[in-house]
Amino acid sequence: MFGILGLIIVVGGIATLARGRGANPVLVGAIAVAGYSLIEFGGFYFQNFLPEEDRVFVTVAAWAWIAVVAGFVRFVVGAGRPKPDGKWSCSNCNYLNNASHVICEACQQPWRAREAAAGQ
Ligand SMILES: [Zn+2]
Repeated sequence: MFGILGLIIVVGGIATLARGRGANPVLVGAIAVAGYSLIEFGGFYFQNFLPEEDRVFVTVAAWAWIAVVAGFVRFVVGAGRPKPDGKWSCSNCNYLNNASHVICEACQQPWRAREAAAGQ
């Protein structure tokens, strides 16, 4: 039960991050949950063939998948975009975004260097 609750919280965080990186949060969330379910429930049948002390690795593998998706969104998606040095407030709507976000979480406007924004 805790696993499912933790999954919802973590995937929610990944979806928020995905939106801030310019990825589709629904798609990223679906990939994260689908991979987790596949490993966890696939492993549920497969684990009968595993020694009892190794069954924990099914859960570990499922969470490792979540970590891979999170790492991909954080470090690969939007990596080519100009990125802020720290927390930044959107020039369009003044929403305060996290440093990891290259697109405004509230209005989807990409982050721009202050000079570039001032030139408009
Ligand atoms: Zn904004």
